[in-house]
Amino acid sequence: MSYEYIIDHIPMNTPNDRRPADRMVAETITLHNTGNEKSSARNERNWLTNPSNDRTASFHKAIDEKEIIECLPDNEHAWAAGDGRGDGNMKSIHIEICESGNYALTIENTIDHVAKMLHERNWGVDKLRRHWDWSRKICPRLMYDGGSWATWKLLVSKIDARLSELKNPPKPVAKETPTVTNEGDENIMKVSGALHQIMLQQLEEITSVEKYGKTALSKIWLTKYVNGELTNSEAIALLFAIRAKNI
Ligand SMILES: [Zn+2]
Repeated sequence: MSYEYIIDHIPMNTPNDRRPADRMVAETITLHNTGNEKSSARNERNWLTNPSNDRTASFHKAIDEKEIIECLPDNEHAWAAGDGRGDGNMKSIHIEICESGNYALTIENTIDHVAKMLHERNWGVDKLRRHWDWSRKICPRLMYDGGSWATWKLLVSKIDARLSELKNPPKPVAKETPTVTNEGDENIMKVSGALHQIMLQQLEEITSVEKYGKTALSKIWLTKYVNGELTNSEAIALLFAIRAKNI
């Protein structure tokens, strides 16, 4: 899914009380279909402020294949449930799912966004409602399935799955611990010149009990190096040992 989230609230003075601006503490999220095969989220938003619109009907968000437009803040109630001053209108966030364009993508966006809304509120899918639940309107109509609401149930299960992902993000795969072996014809680390002097000096220091006490590394490292027996793999192991002891 990919969508843009646009906040474009309708004005406080929008006619027909479409933004009553009464405070709301939402308890549920209600889903709808627009009932219009040609209408996009932008069309839905624009209809709320279209001068020819004389209805007292509004909603919080409209979702289509490419964007989600927030038309009302979710702490104000809308007129969308058909239940007067019941809990549908007074205590629910209403989302219009557009029917135009790529509907499968629109549903993907719906699954993702609604799951995020639930996650933010620490809610489960038991907080989801259909318009039908408030006033028996056949809405969201594309999920009715002759009364079985099979598509609705499928949508709820997909939102639930997405919510689980949000709660338990996949952990990064642990990197394999490199194993150091001294078997076979391992290459002996070859150091010469100035670097040799530095190596010698450093090895004497990190294996010094006088300086580091119990933290000092084993003298074996120094002996191996001096005897020309320190392999490349062992040198890497030595680096890790130094790092682990923080010396
Ligand atoms: Zn509806």
